[in-house]
Amino acid sequence: MEHKRILVTGGAGFVGSHLCDLLLDQGHEVYCLDNFFTGQKRNIIHLLDNPYFELIRHDITAPFFIECDEIYNLACPASPIHYQYNPIKTIKTSVMGSINMLGLAKRVKAKILQASTSEVYGNPEIHPQPESYWGNVNPIGERSCYDEGKRAAETLFMDYHKQNGVNVKIVRIFNTYGPRMHPQDGRVVSNFIVQALQNKDITIYGDGSQTRSFQYVDDLLSGMVKLMDTEDGFTGPVNIGNPGEFTILELAQHVIELIGSKSKIVYLPLPSDDPLMRRPDISLAKEKLDWEPTLALEEGLKKTIAYFESTL
Ligand code: NAD
Ligand code: UDP
Repeated sequence: MEHKRILVTGGAGFVGSHLCDLLLDQGHEVYCLDNFFTGQKRNIIHLLDNPYFELIRHDITAPFFIECDEIYNLACPASPIHYQYNPIKTIKTSVMGSINMLGLAKRVKAKILQASTSEVYGNPEIHPQPESYWGNVNPIGERSCYDEGKRAAETLFMDYHKQNGVNVKIVRIFNTYGPRMHPQDGRVVSNFIVQALQNKDITIYGDGSQTRSFQYVDDLLSGMVKLMDTEDGFTGPVNIGNPGEFTILELAQHVIELIGSKSKIVYLPLPSDDPLMRRPDISLAKEKLDWEPTLALEEGLKKTIAYFESTL
């Protein structure tokens, strides 16, 4: 296989660190860029002795210069509590960060993949969501800094492609979980597992009838790499997610059962603009990438529970 120099922004985060592992295993050279806002050294500490791995502390809202063949642009806080902590910084990361990374890709003629999100569909009126759906997003709500930032990033990626011929790829990632999620990051899978392991109350926001479709991180990685490897000119966006859809109450019950926890379920207010349902239509990924997820929720939860058991 061809040996490539690959830049991973957000490489010390949950998804990014697994991507660094995979790309190194495939024989590539990896430049991991991160400002450590939500990333953790311990996610990549095992790579620091690898001569094909380089860690760079940098913030993508500032320009960055390097020679590389491919860029995976993952830098952006992904959990609502983190991206709402400093909303202006969040949208700057998506917009200014994308401009900086696209400028870099243009200059060094690198292929560049944007980690977009199912949040571009907002609170969807079409179910499941195909890529052709334009979404239902509140431009001035609590989630807008993330949703609209990611939407503007998609626009920038497509315009750099059309205007400057940059080889871009856009993946719309649906809720992803697995080892190395930050235990305090507030996302539902990590919250429920941490609470259940400590026999603390499981916090359901709203009545628990809202749905999400959860994919295990390894499935996401195989989809992202397949998308990066598609022919020039194929840009996406492509949904990558697991169509298995569960209510949040069902998720809580699964986690309690798998752990054998004594936790009780408590109900807290639903945050504003929280999408009521979400499930990917993955026909395009099947057709163009020959991709579909392989790990069922129960199997993925077991692996994630084992990780949190060993780290808490
Ligand atoms: P994460 O918070 O664990 O990782 C994000 C990483 O980006 C962190 O290491 C953080 O320190 C870094 N970062 C943030 N702002 C930065 C900046 N300005 N400059 C440099 N680095 C910066 O989140 P994750 O779950 O690993 O998500 C990775 C990417 O995938 C994000 O772009 C996210 O929007 C996208 N995504 C994730 C999910 C999911 O369910 N995990 C779903 C949809 C989209
Ligand atoms: N959620 C919950 N309890 C928690 C954390 C989240 O009920 O402790 C709910 C949240 O309101 C949302 C769903 O779980 O309806 C998924 O939340 P998450 O933050 O993981 O992802 P997103 O809302 O961005 O899809």
